[in-house]
Amino acid sequence: MKLKYTQRWVIKDKRISELDKQRIQLNKLTSMLYYQTKEDPQIFISLTTLEKRRKLMKKMQREIKKIYNSTQYLESFDELVLRDIEATVRKTIAEDDYFYNMKVNKPIGNFLSKVFGRAAYSRLLNMAKPENLDHKAIHKKYALLHSVLSRSLDSEIILERTTYSRLRGLLESQLNDIKKVVDSFYVSLGMLDKNPEYTIELAPSNIGFSYWEGHNFLMAIDPDKIFCYNKAGKEKEYIFNRAFAFVIGVHELAHGLEEKISENMPSGLRYAPETYNSLCHGVVTEGVALEVEKFFISWAKQHQNKYKFSKFDLDLMNYYIKSYIDEKVPWVFHDISELQEIERDYNPKLPEQFGIKAHKKLASVTRVKRYQKDYYLFNDREFSETLDQMIYIFGKEHISNLIEKIKKVIDIRSCEGKRLAIQAIATGFWCDAKAQEHFILEHYLPRAEKDGLIENP
Ligand SMILES: [Zn+2]
Repeated sequence: MKLKYTQRWVIKDKRISELDKQRIQLNKLTSMLYYQTKEDPQIFISLTTLEKRRKLMKKMQREIKKIYNSTQYLESFDELVLRDIEATVRKTIAEDDYFYNMKVNKPIGNFLSKVFGRAAYSRLLNMAKPENLDHKAIHKKYALLHSVLSRSLDSEIILERTTYSRLRGLLESQLNDIKKVVDSFYVSLGMLDKNPEYTIELAPSNIGFSYWEGHNFLMAIDPDKIFCYNKAGKEKEYIFNRAFAFVIGVHELAHGLEEKISENMPSGLRYAPETYNSLCHGVVTEGVALEVEKFFISWAKQHQNKYKFSKFDLDLMNYYIKSYIDEKVPWVFHDISELQEIERDYNPKLPEQFGIKAHKKLASVTRVKRYQKDYYLFNDREFSETLDQMIYIFGKEHISNLIEKIKKVIDIRSCEGKRLAIQAIATGFWCDAKAQEHFILEHYLPRAEKDGLIENP
């Protein structure tokens, strides 16, 4: 994948370079814990991993303090990196305090504020209220989708049963068309050269999500998001609705671009598969990918004829994007309420049923009395899953706000403006939302202006 424009940033201060290296080790340990809690079928947390991480956090805290106390001059970019490293340590300590450290007793709200910023719990509670959730968009999405879903075949039938093997080939042949549309979006923005090299595959059926695998240059599309059904009255003809898959493809390639664009940043702000963890990187990376979806929908409307998007598909994509986060909010709010309840009522001697009061509270905030999913999903969701959902919610909030600020500096209605805005937000795997904001407004955009990329600031 070749990019047309990137900026290279380096740390000048040796002490901060050293801390940046330590941060990589810290993120590696967090990522290892993530694998212990999530990927391994056994529920086992190594106290050795925790101890090593604590030791490193304390060491880094001391170093950070020393630098803040010294009178030595710091370049402002170095200062931002230091602030970002500090955030990595802060979020890691918050996780250790809430989930692992027996000596500390802090409420979940404290964890949320440390990881997602001030008053994160209240912000979440507010988002869950009916007036703040886009019920109309969700209704409209389902009004369209219902006619498709009620006729669709399960991906499992297509992919795993021999009687439908002809359809399997047809489903797979959709992938290249999806790639072409996705690539055209980034090429027409001028971010990429034609035909960027990566592989597009179907994710395993029933996995429930799509993903980007940076180290393998692989985009995997959830086959359940490509709807396949019989054409009315024609038993041998099938329709494939790919509206969601286009949006997903754009989202996943945005992740690929974040990795590529960040290659010229200091090593602690680059992507590496063994250091990536949602606790520290998720808010910015998912926020960016969600934001790019919005740019895609306006592009798709503009190029409706060229790429033969039907009005039905454009509406479907639009409501899919609009409702994506809102559909996550009540569920996440529930998980947090349940945690609060466990904090209050926890008695290790009792094999009690949690969650009853949390459900009442959820109903009183969202004005939906009972969620039928409840018994099967809510009680059993692991917190790591909740955290993964939360990074989308707070990621969207953060990056949307950031785009509003970028709009005051550049005109993002033009192609060049859009490209620059996307590149700016995708530069660096920042941990601290404010550090990223300062970087873009005070460093990235001024340099882009010097490079002649901003015409009328
Ligand atoms: Zn994503």
